[in-house]
Amino acid sequence: MPFSKLGLSDPIAKAVAEQGYETPTPIQHKAIPVILAGKDLIAAAQTGTGKTASFVLPILQNLMDAPAVRAKRIRALILTPTRELAIQVEANIALYGKHLHLTSMAMYGGVDAEPQKERLIEGVDILVATPGRLLDMYTRRAIHFDELEVLVLDEADRMLDMGFIADINKIVERLPEKRQNLLFSATLSQQVRFLARTAIENAVEIAIRPDSTATPKIEQWLITVDKDTKSALLSFLITENKWDQALIFIETKRGAAKLVSQLEKRGIKAEAIHSGRSQAVRAQLLEDFKAGELKFMVATGIAARGIDIDSLTRVVNYDLPDEADDYVHRIGRTGRAGAVGEAISFVSRDDFRNLCAIEKRLGEFITRKEIEGFQPKLEVPASDAGHAPKNAKSSNRRNTRRKPAKSRS
Ligand code: AMP
Repeated sequence: MPFSKLGLSDPIAKAVAEQGYETPTPIQHKAIPVILAGKDLIAAAQTGTGKTASFVLPILQNLMDAPAVRAKRIRALILTPTRELAIQVEANIALYGKHLHLTSMAMYGGVDAEPQKERLIEGVDILVATPGRLLDMYTRRAIHFDELEVLVLDEADRMLDMGFIADINKIVERLPEKRQNLLFSATLSQQVRFLARTAIENAVEIAIRPDSTATPKIEQWLITVDKDTKSALLSFLITENKWDQALIFIETKRGAAKLVSQLEKRGIKAEAIHSGRSQAVRAQLLEDFKAGELKFMVATGIAARGIDIDSLTRVVNYDLPDEADDYVHRIGRTGRAGAVGEAISFVSRDDFRNLCAIEKRLGEFITRKEIEGFQPKLEVPASDAGHAPKNAKSSNRRNTRRKPAKSRS
C-alpha cells in the first residue's frame, strides 16, 4: 500500500518518495491513521522500525494548514531522551516536511541557551526537546504551551531510565489539558505504562512485535574471548575481514580512549564519542562517521543514543551492557528498515551475567563463535536463558551440549 493511501497529502507523500521509501513499515501502517484521526496512541516499537516517520508524517499532515504560530508558542512537542535523538528527529521533520511551510527546531542542553531562546521568539510549529532544557526555557518564560496541540514522548523507556520522570511530569502538568498524546517506547514496561497513565487517558495501543516483518534483519553473534585480548581481536577482525565501518560500544570513557589508542598503535584510525567530549566535537564526529570519512567510532552507550545512520552495517559490543534493553537498542543501530546488519559481541567471563540477562530478554541464545588464536583461557559458560549456572560443573555440562561453532568469520 502506498503512503498516499494512508491519507497523507501530496507534498508529504512526495518527500517520502524522495527518501526512497516505497511502502509504509508496519508501525507506520498502524500508527498513521490513528494519529491522523486525532486519537491518543501508545506504541511499542523499537528504533529501526520506522517509528519516527510514523508520528512525524501524520503530525505534519495535521498541522500543515494551520495559521502561522504565535510568538514563543509551539504546536507540537516531541520529548526525547538525548540531544542526539532530538537532532535526528528534527532532521527527519525537516526532510519529510521539506515541501511544507512548517517550522521545526531541536532544543537540548549542553549548549548555549541564548540562540535557542532567540529562535523561540517567533514561535515554532514543531519543537523537539530534551526535558531538562525545555523546563529551563519554560522557567525563563522563553516558551508558552497554551497553543500546544500534540505531545509525543519518544523512547519513553529510555527517558525513564535516564531519570527524566520528574521533569516529564512537570512539563505535562503545564500543558493544555486538551491535546493529543503519543507515546513511543521500545518496551511497554510497568513504569512506562505508569508514565503513560499520567499523560494519557484513553489511548489506542499498538505493538510491533520484535519478530514481525518490521524488525530489521540483524545477524547477531558473539565471540567468546578473554578480556585482555579484546582489542587485539578487534584489530584482527577489522584487518582480516576488511571491515568498512563499525560502531563500537564500550562501557566507560576511559575504556574508549584506551581502545582508540590501542587501535591506533595497530594502524587503525578510530575516534571516541562520549559525554566527556564537547557537543561540537561529537556532532562533527557523527557527521564524519555518517559521511564514511571516519570508519571506526568507539562510543559509550549514552553518547551513542539516537545515532541513526542508514547504511550502518555493523555494531560491535566490545563490552556487554549492564541493561539488556541497552543491548536491544544498540543492535537496533544496524540493519535499519530492510537492510541487513551485523551485531557482534565480545564476551569474556566478566560479561557472563550480562549475557544471561540479554539472552533472557531476547528469549534465545546468541550464536557463539570462537576465533582461532583468540580462544579464551577463561571459559564463558553457556547461559541458561538467564539463569546463571549454580556451579562450574553444571555450566560445563551445558557447554558441552551447546558447543560453540568455531569459525573465522
Ligand atoms: P526509526 O525507527 O524511526 O529510527 O527509522 C529507521 C530508519 O528507517 C530510518 O533511517 C528511516 O530513514 C528508515 N525508514 C523509515 N520509514 C521507512 C520506510 N517506509 N521505508 C524504508 N525506510 C524507512
